Amino acid sequence: MGLLAKLIIAILVICFLILVAFFGRLPALRNTPIAWLHRLIWVKIPGAVLAIDNRLTGGRLTSSVGRFFTFMLHDKHPTILVFFLLLLTVGEVLYLPGAWPRLSTLNQVLGAISIVLPYWFLYKAAYTDPGIITPANHARHMSHYPYDFTLYHPGAVCRTCLLLKPARSKHCSVCKRCVGRMDHHCVFINNCVGYGNQHFFLLLLLTTAWLTTYGAALGWTLVRDSAVARTSNDAFRLWKPSRMPWEHYFLLLMVGIQDDVGVGSVTLLATMTNPMVWALLGYHVYLIWAGTTTNESMKWSDWKIEMDEGCAFKRALNPENPSQQQRSRDFTLEPAWTRWPVEPLQILVRTDDGHPPHRDSPYGYGEWERVWSLRDVENLYDIGFWDNLTDIMVKDYSFRAEGKGRPPRDDDDAGVFGDEEADVEGYGHRDSRGGGGSSSSGGNGNDKDLRRAHKERARRSKKPNMPTVAGIVNAAT
Ligand SMILES: [Zn+2]
Ligand SMILES: [Zn+2]
Repeated sequence: MGLLAKLIIAILVICFLILVAFFGRLPALRNTPIAWLHRLIWVKIPGAVLAIDNRLTGGRLTSSVGRFFTFMLHDKHPTILVFFLLLLTVGEVLYLPGAWPRLSTLNQVLGAISIVLPYWFLYKAAYTDPGIITPANHARHMSHYPYDFTLYHPGAVCRTCLLLKPARSKHCSVCKRCVGRMDHHCVFINNCVGYGNQHFFLLLLLTTAWLTTYGAALGWTLVRDSAVARTSNDAFRLWKPSRMPWEHYFLLLMVGIQDDVGVGSVTLLATMTNPMVWALLGYHVYLIWAGTTTNESMKWSDWKIEMDEGCAFKRALNPENPSQQQRSRDFTLEPAWTRWPVEPLQILVRTDDGHPPHRDSPYGYGEWERVWSLRDVENLYDIGFWDNLTDIMVKDYSFRAEGKGRPPRDDDDAGVFGDEEADVEGYGHRDSRGGGGSSSSGGNGNDKDLRRAHKERARRSKKPNMPTVAGIVNAAT
C-alpha cells in the first residue's frame, strides 16, 4: 500500500472517530451506524471484556482497567487536550514546509495569524478560571443572575462545596467544584466552560473553524496548481469540469495530492473535520440566540417531559394587584442586587401525582395553571441575541442603569448575604432565619413541591442517555 493510501485511511479513521465521539449520542442518529458504533465502543466492548475477565481471572484484570476507564471518563486529565494539540501541530508540521514557499506574502501573514490564534485561545480557554465559586467570590457570583424560579430556585446548596448555588451555576463532577454559569465540562480544553472562560471557548471554536476552512482552501489551490503543472492540463479545476470524465478528474486530483503528500493529506483532513467544527460553533451560537447553556438546555428538555406528562404548573410570583404587598424576598437565600435587567415573574414547579400544588404553597400568588408547552414559560436568561452575546463576551457587564444599588465585590463583608459566616446549615432551615418571611408564603421556604422538583432533577441528571436533543453534542466535548 502506498504512503498516500495509508495516509488517507488514517485521515478517514481520525475523522470517523471524532464524528462518533461528537455525534454518537444524538437522538437524530439513533438508528444509524454512528450510534451503533458509539454503543459498541463505549458499552459493548467494555462489557464483553468485563465478562471474559470475570470468567478468567475473577475480575482482577478489569478492576484495574475499570479504574483506568473511570479515570479517562470522569477525572480531570489532559489526554484529549494533548490529542487536540498534536492534531493541530502535526498537521501544521506536515503542511507548512511544502505550502509556505508557494504562498503569497498576504497569505503568509494571514496564515501566520490563523495558525497562532487557535493556540492562544486554547491556552486561554484551558487556563482561565472558568468561574469557580469560592466563599470569597460567592456574593459576586450571586449578583450575576437572579433566580428564575424555573430552572433555578433559591435555597439549593451544593453538598460538596457547601455553598448556596448561585443561579445558573453547576457543580462540575470532573473538576469537583461549583462553576458560575456552567455550560459544560470540555475534555478538549480539560476545563469547565463557564462564566469566566466561555468567550475564550467560543473564540477557540471560531478560530479553529476559520483555520480549517482557510487551510483547506489554500491547500486545494496548491493541489490544483500542482496537478496542472505536473500534467500540463489547463482544463483541470477543483470543481469538476462538466466535460471531464470522473476517472480523469480523480486521476488528476491524485497527481496533485501526491505532488506533496503532506499538503495533500492535511488538506483532506482539514476539509473533513471542518464541518464538525462549524457545526459545534453553530450549536453554541444557537445556544446564545436561545439565551441558554448546554446544562440549561438539558434542564429545559426535562421540563418538556414534565409538561408532556401534565406534571408542570406555574403561577405568578407577584400578586396581580400592585397595591397588594409584593413578594418578600429572603436575602439570606436570594441576592439583593443583580446586574441582570429582568426579574422573574413566574414560578414553575412539578408535582409527582399530576395534581396542582397546594394553593398556599410558598412563593407565588393565585391559582396554579398547568403548563403544556415550553412556549408558555418565559426564559429569564434570554434578553435578545446581542445582549446574550454581550453577557458572554464582556465579563461583569452591567445591564442595569447606574444607581440601582451597587455590585458586591469579592470578600464583601456587607455583601448580599450579610454575614458570609452564615453557617450552611442555616440555609437548610430558612424559616428559622426569619429573613423577612412576612407573607404567608415568603419565609417558609421549604416547599415540598420545590424540594421534590430539586430531588427529581437531581435523579434525572444522573440518568444516562437522556433523550435530550440539545446538549448532547457537547457530551463528548
Ligand atoms: Zn459544588
Ligand atoms: Zn469541569
